[in-house]
Amino acid sequence: MEGLMMHRPLRIADILAHAAQIYPEEGIVSARTEGDIHRQSYAQTAARVAQLAHGLIAAGVKPGDRVATLAWNGYRHFELYYAISGIGAVCHTINPRLSAEQMAYIVGHAEDSLLFFDTTFLPIIEGLSGQFPPSLRYVAMADEDKQPESKVELLNYEAMLNGQPEQFDWPEFDETTAAALCYTSGTTGNPKGTLYSHRSTVLHALCTAISLPKVLREGSRILPVVPLFHVNAWGLPYSAPLTGASLVMPGPGLDGPSLFKLMDAEQVYSAWGVPTVWLGLQQEIAAQGRLTEGFGHLVVGGSAAPRAMIEAFEKEGVDVCHAWGMTEMSPIGTVGNLPPSMEDAPLSEKLEIKRKQGRRAFGVDMKIIGEDGSAQPQDGTAEGELFVRGNTIAAGYYNNPEATAEAIDGEGWFGTGDIARISPNGTLSITDRSKDLIKSGGEWISSIDMENVVMGHPNVANCAAIAVPSEKWGERPMLIVVAKGEPPAPEALRDMLEEHFAKWQLPDDILFVEELPLTATGKVSKLTLRRQYAAAG
Ligand code: ADP
Repeated sequence: MEGLMMHRPLRIADILAHAAQIYPEEGIVSARTEGDIHRQSYAQTAARVAQLAHGLIAAGVKPGDRVATLAWNGYRHFELYYAISGIGAVCHTINPRLSAEQMAYIVGHAEDSLLFFDTTFLPIIEGLSGQFPPSLRYVAMADEDKQPESKVELLNYEAMLNGQPEQFDWPEFDETTAAALCYTSGTTGNPKGTLYSHRSTVLHALCTAISLPKVLREGSRILPVVPLFHVNAWGLPYSAPLTGASLVMPGPGLDGPSLFKLMDAEQVYSAWGVPTVWLGLQQEIAAQGRLTEGFGHLVVGGSAAPRAMIEAFEKEGVDVCHAWGMTEMSPIGTVGNLPPSMEDAPLSEKLEIKRKQGRRAFGVDMKIIGEDGSAQPQDGTAEGELFVRGNTIAAGYYNNPEATAEAIDGEGWFGTGDIARISPNGTLSITDRSKDLIKSGGEWISSIDMENVVMGHPNVANCAAIAVPSEKWGERPMLIVVAKGEPPAPEALRDMLEEHFAKWQLPDDILFVEELPLTATGKVSKLTLRRQYAAAG
């Protein structure tokens, strides 16, 4: 028997409409690339989003079109999220830290029609416009009187809004309609696109709100250091307005002193980002000899948070919540809240729990598969590759059947490439990574791509790129080479790599060895190498 309840499609536009009515005074504070602090309530934001939606339609954007952004965290980027998806188009966020080659690839693959960019990224636009599709048009996200001069023809963001009506009758479409597109690095080859729907996005916002009630609530002030260009800033542009929390957007100032100043002035309660960023903030807190005003909560994820970092924040009175997830999971999979029974436990006991990745969020099913291919018990001891399933998890990659076939198993579960243990109460412990990727400062480097380039040198017989631990970046790439004849100069290898990789992705160290350790099946044993060079970072 069917239930007899209405079925209304879940729409992203309804989140902001709700915030504008119910929490009109909450909103967005932005440290702008123009250098000033900008404030805007959700009610004002909704009016500007309506204007932008009219502007997009006037510019010829149609449902299903991909509209790209290359921007820091700020109110205009937030407005683009809502206006683009609201009219049924797809907001494609581009990660400016990608190499030029990868950026050109994803813009071509997504077939973007418009590209909105923060003016700090003008050099990227000018450098790559020749490799982007000729039909692509560019919009500078700046005040009209700050419109940059350029050899590339540029539209202006504010001019697009000017004179447009402040109301928009948001169209109704199926809730499975695509809303946003975010590319993530593959272990080899080109980045792969995760295509979120209105349904997955609204459900993710609701599930996150349930997982973090202490933070996602009316009047709370949250700082997303995690970028809007990388996994939707962990869903904050949706979960914050949904619950009445305000957002404090840091723009490009992500160093310790800039974050300290902004958090202090704006009384940020909860800050979200990768461990590398918090190291900088911690140093500034030590230099200033105090916490920022009102600071009490930290969400850290993207890479494992070191125990020492969690301990230092906890000792200062900041409640640290360790979270795990991925682009393909919208992204939140687990959240590290302590159960109330642990509140008065000694710090050492709390840390034992907090250094793990947290408990499963509602709607994320998990299984771990051992080396023999069988499902392992969730007893906190058995280990295996982690697979996930749920309404907020990618069913495949955009226009990429090969990568989809690789990622989804025969039963429809998504393989994360993480090795994990799960305890009976659903607490996740990530113990290793099976995917051949290195994560530095929260961003990926493909070890296989690096090896393929280096193998192109006539004097290289074999090589392996591995992650070595780094206090600052989490991991850094190290290249280990077996030479054929005269060993090549490290600079020559770096020059080769520079043609395909961004500068920050290049290996810090290049070592020459006689031979590489092999596994039983004859593959290079990265595990042995990682253990051997663990102390090198
Ligand atoms: P994000 O970095 O925003 O979470 P990505 O898709 O770039 O999303 O990376 C996801 C991967 O990052 C995971 O599969 C895992 O390898 C790693 N990761 C994310 N969070 C954690 C964490 N808390 N601890 C350990 N590894 C993590």
